[in-house]
Amino acid sequence: MNDDLLKKYAQLLVKTGVNIQKNQTLVISSPIECASFARIISELAYKEGAREVVMNWRDELSAKIKYLHAPEEIFEEFPEWQKDFYLYYVRKGAAFMSIAASDPELMKDVDPERLRKSNKASSTALKEYSESIMSNKNSWCVASIPTRAWAKKVFPNATEDEAVEELWKSILKSVRADTEDPVTAWNEHKSYLKKSMDFLNSNNFKFLQYKNSLGTDLKVELPNNHLWLGGSEYTPEGVEFIANMPTEEVFTLPKKTGVNGTVVSSKPLNHNGNLIENFSFTFKEGKIVDFTAEKGYESLKNLVETDDGSHYLGEVALVPYDSPISNSNILFYNTLFDENASCHLAIGRAYPVCIKNGENMNDEELGKAEVNDSLTHVDFMIGTKDLEITGITADGKEIPVFKNGNFAF
Ligand code: ZN
Ligand code: ZN
Repeated sequence: MNDDLLKKYAQLLVKTGVNIQKNQTLVISSPIECASFARIISELAYKEGAREVVMNWRDELSAKIKYLHAPEEIFEEFPEWQKDFYLYYVRKGAAFMSIAASDPELMKDVDPERLRKSNKASSTALKEYSESIMSNKNSWCVASIPTRAWAKKVFPNATEDEAVEELWKSILKSVRADTEDPVTAWNEHKSYLKKSMDFLNSNNFKFLQYKNSLGTDLKVELPNNHLWLGGSEYTPEGVEFIANMPTEEVFTLPKKTGVNGTVVSSKPLNHNGNLIENFSFTFKEGKIVDFTAEKGYESLKNLVETDDGSHYLGEVALVPYDSPISNSNILFYNTLFDENASCHLAIGRAYPVCIKNGENMNDEELGKAEVNDSLTHVDFMIGTKDLEITGITADGKEIPVFKNGNFAF
């Protein structure tokens, strides 16, 4: 990929993505394979006035070696110093940039029980950090660049070099970095998303009824005072940032105990280095009472059984079937992209900012408002070409929201 384009993309992430402020610290979590790109981000962040850029390197191959060979009990531990690392920077008001580029099936030979334990230990230890992030107290941005293993999974028939090149092209297109003026392109995109948000917020639906030919037949109740969000978000100090690049969704939260029926997945889910395929959930009063999976059942079971809150939903997101990433017809095996090509739901914790004044509520108040809490938050894709969603208002009026997979208004 040529240097100018890389710089343009990195600049977009630094300015429009996390929107680094003068004298602010930036923490970059990056796979070691993406080091040269992470360094470009770092340099640009200093140019924008960052006080310090802290590199948080990750190596998933070393992680795999540990999963395969370390004694079992190590996966129940999470080092205090790592927890302190995140808390130190969260409390300092740092911005968090994270590069998501994992090999989708790297962990398929690893005992799922080890992954479950390790995941639980880290999400328990990092709860304060993730609560801060999910309430937008710190600005954050998740983005991607290709790695060889990931690119090869997305484009299995290409050579490794071609696959990387293709994946670069798809990523840069999805984040509008290949346009003449990406900042203007993002401003236009934000106002496009705002139109859907305004429609959904002004109708203030009490229920959304989902139906398609895959077998989805689901009724989702939305809590009082829910808010539809999308595009950019704001920290309490009013700093605008974009949490996911790309982003094509508008989203809110469901009422914790208000989900009933069955929903069927429409794309594979990459979770903890494993793929879960052709799966479904059945809900009763918000709780998952049954689930199936043709592939990856153990991983799905571990996800659902993380804690009490992982038996409930925490996000309802709408993405038209006819949208840029979806139209590329590429299955990315990376949730950042696949969720932005499809209507999705998330298991686990809800974003408190999706309810009026939620960012200022404590755990008890959020619980009373039926905002789901969990150690986990995992999106899964349910959008199809024939998805119909009907909005039902408090006085029983039915208004089409989705017709044939796309917004009906
Ligand atoms: Zn989402
Ligand atoms: Zn989500």
